[in-house]
Amino acid sequence: MDWSDSTDQAAFRAEVRGFIQSRLPEPYRAVGDSDEASGWQVDRKSKDPARRETAIAWANALAEKGWVAPHWPKEYGGAGLSVLEQFIFNQEMATAEAPSVGGMGVSLIGPTLIVHGTDEQKQEHLPKILSGEVAWAQGYSEPGAGSDLASLQTRATRDGDDYVINGQKIWTSGAQFADWLFALVRTDPEAPKHRGISFVVMDITTPGITVRPLTDMGWQQPFNETFFEDVHVPVRNRVGEENRGWYVGMTLLDFERSGIAGATQYAREIETLVDYVHTEAGARFVRPDFATTRLALADRRVETEVLFNFAFRIVSLQNRGMVPNYEASANKLFGSELHQRLALTGTRTFGLYANIWDHATPHAPLGARFTRDYIRSVPHTIFSGSSEIQRNVIATRGLGLPRG
Ligand SMILES: Cc1cc2nc3c(=O)[nH]c(=O)nc-3n(C[C@H](O)[C@H](O)[C@H](O)COP(=O)(O)OP(=O)(O)OC[C@H]3O[C@@H](n4cnc5c(N)ncnc54)[C@H](O)[C@@H]3O)c2cc1C
Repeated sequence: MDWSDSTDQAAFRAEVRGFIQSRLPEPYRAVGDSDEASGWQVDRKSKDPARRETAIAWANALAEKGWVAPHWPKEYGGAGLSVLEQFIFNQEMATAEAPSVGGMGVSLIGPTLIVHGTDEQKQEHLPKILSGEVAWAQGYSEPGAGSDLASLQTRATRDGDDYVINGQKIWTSGAQFADWLFALVRTDPEAPKHRGISFVVMDITTPGITVRPLTDMGWQQPFNETFFEDVHVPVRNRVGEENRGWYVGMTLLDFERSGIAGATQYAREIETLVDYVHTEAGARFVRPDFATTRLALADRRVETEVLFNFAFRIVSLQNRGMVPNYEASANKLFGSELHQRLALTGTRTFGLYANIWDHATPHAPLGARFTRDYIRSVPHTIFSGSSEIQRNVIATRGLGLPRG
């Protein structure tokens, strides 16, 4: 199989690479580990004016090319890139560790509004997503509804032109930095569970919404509990038909990414580790029995190649107009578990030094990045469908096995 770029693809790759080299703001070039949450969505709301300016400058630079939303159609302000161009774009962004802009607005709710939104909803929301003015959070999961999402209980009761919402969401990523929320709510408790759900969007400052950050095991606050107490949301904020929200919510799955960013990032991590252990500074932290870790590291490198090929498979399906199904599950399962194995291999390389969490101490190999990644990669096999759920999908839809 020849994976090299065609002439046009090589030209596009050079264009993206040149753009990143000339326009990526300096603070995004040297991404080290820190104790603070970072990323574009956090920076745009930072108390530090320099961080805010960096986030805005990068969003504006991408917006000039339509590359805030490379996969959106041009008529909605995206770049209308082909599947293969998106793949190249994402690969170059990942190689440069350049942050994408627009978060869930660009990746999740924007594409959903393009398919299911009214003209009014598109006009109201899409431009603000593209300009970076409004950031979004996703309110799907609840304390009793995660893998079995259709069991969600947050209730929306009709009251004239409003829905009145009561209940609780959990694990709402970035809600403390978001301006709007999209959520699945139960509008008909009598109907079969998938058929009594509606999809609504709301300003996160609407009275009655409380967002309470949750601290994870890596001492960061990536997600929240979100409470709703008599929250009035206009009925016109419903996306799609009443009680058909499940199908609106699942549209997002059709916008599955190839996962190329993960494969690129892991290959780079391995390179960084190998380079480091060959330096004088790095060599002194390496365990004496490094030979065994060396074999594990070689395995991880081979596995990143496997992951590249999973990504190529997704992109080649999409390129033929097909929607990846169990193939996306295999990709997500393998990629997230590889991430954890790689972090573990990195910590094993440094033996007891890998116990150091403080990235600023000179005794922390590579600024403790593998130690931190070991902890912070734990949720990767939980969100976006846990490994068990992905295995169920592969078993039933991919291998045609009966449901247990
Ligand atoms: C970092 C992070 C960010 C997140 N961000 C968001 C967000 O922004 N918005 C949002 O709505 N949600 C978010 N989530 C929630 C995420 O979607 C859920 O955690 C996930 O769907 C799993 O649900 P759960 O936590 O309720 O676990 P459960 O569904 O209760 O699962 C518990 C365990 O049982 C297993 N299990 C469950 N059902 C089956 C089955 N049928 N067969 C085999 N095993 C099964 C699971 O694999 C898991 O090991 C986030 C989660 C994390 C960790």
